Amino acid sequence: AKAAGGNRYELADAEADARAITRHGLTTALPAALERGEFFIEYQPLVHLDDGSVHGAEALVRWCHPQHGVLGPDRFIPLAEHTGLIVPLGRWVLEQSVRQAMAWHEQLSGGSGGAGGAGGAAGPLRINVNLSPTQLHHPGLVGDTVEVLDRVGLPPGSLCLEVTESALIGADEDLLKPLRQLSEMGVDIALDDFGTGYSNLANLRRLPVSVLKLDRSFTQGMQRHPADPVDLKIVEGIVSLAHSLELAVTVEGVETGAQAEQLRRLGCDTAQGWYYARPGPPERLHALSLADAGP
Ligand code: C2E
Ligand code: CA
Ligand code: CA
Ligand code: CA
Repeated sequence: AKAAGGNRYELADAEADARAITRHGLTTALPAALERGEFFIEYQPLVHLDDGSVHGAEALVRWCHPQHGVLGPDRFIPLAEHTGLIVPLGRWVLEQSVRQAMAWHEQLSGGSGGAGGAGGAAGPLRINVNLSPTQLHHPGLVGDTVEVLDRVGLPPGSLCLEVTESALIGADEDLLKPLRQLSEMGVDIALDDFGTGYSNLANLRRLPVSVLKLDRSFTQGMQRHPADPVDLKIVEGIVSLAHSLELAVTVEGVETGAQAEQLRRLGCDTAQGWYYARPGPPERLHALSLADAGP
């Protein structure tokens, strides 16, 4: 038993070493990867729960690594965050996403094709971009964002920046000021992964946010049949508080029609998840919006 324990220990040790080596390798490869264009963005639609129409999309970055294949953001965003590369990487993601939103806008409102009118009537698709804490602290945030919006010509109201609840816990005015400035310009700020950070609900009033993104864990609670009545009460409470503060509520991780229906009944506004679409290339979102614009 002792020997087996020893072997297990060594195995775990070796795995930890391998992970550390990969982590180190990935970290040192990040700057060149950005220069070589190894990153790409997938877009996942956000859908109105009442009628299923497309509201916009969230930009989710991936790394097409020459040896390891496609890596998800959980593998490299923390590394980029740690080394500061997240600032240029985040700027790249913002620029690509804003350009993409503009391209959709032009495709959907600009005459060509049969479905022009409805896309235009629904207003431009909105683009959600994630910001990590280092980006939030970076002094160039407001200037860079304004510059990209201006240069591309996308109205600020078409952009939503997602900030995690944990990044704003205990935030002082200095940290909130750039978000406040962006919000005053019309950029929406969403509080991402809401409900995981134990933040004081009363605190919401002083944050410059206009959207709450309910964490996936709540959506998972809706999956049980029947759903846990306490979970339902909690979501109902959050939605009613959010609406009384004039915040919109988005839910993420919707995987079934039953969840979508439950969340719609609880008053959530928009939803995102595999039930509607997995993250994918930009053409997919274009096709989806044309489809819901009707013939
Ligand atoms: P997030 O902002 O909470 O993004 C939602 C994650 O849930 C995405 O994972 C998405 O693919 C996944 N997801 C969507 N629908 C479903 C569903 O129905 N079921 C399940 N189980 N999962 C679903 P992804 O793409 O791996 O991104 C992970 C995290 O990486 C994101 O979490 C975000 O925090 C971060 N991230 C992604 N792109 C960027 C970026 O450009 N900049 C920064 N700073 N962070 C990013
Ligand atoms: Ca997000
Ligand atoms: Ca989230
Ligand atoms: Ca998350």
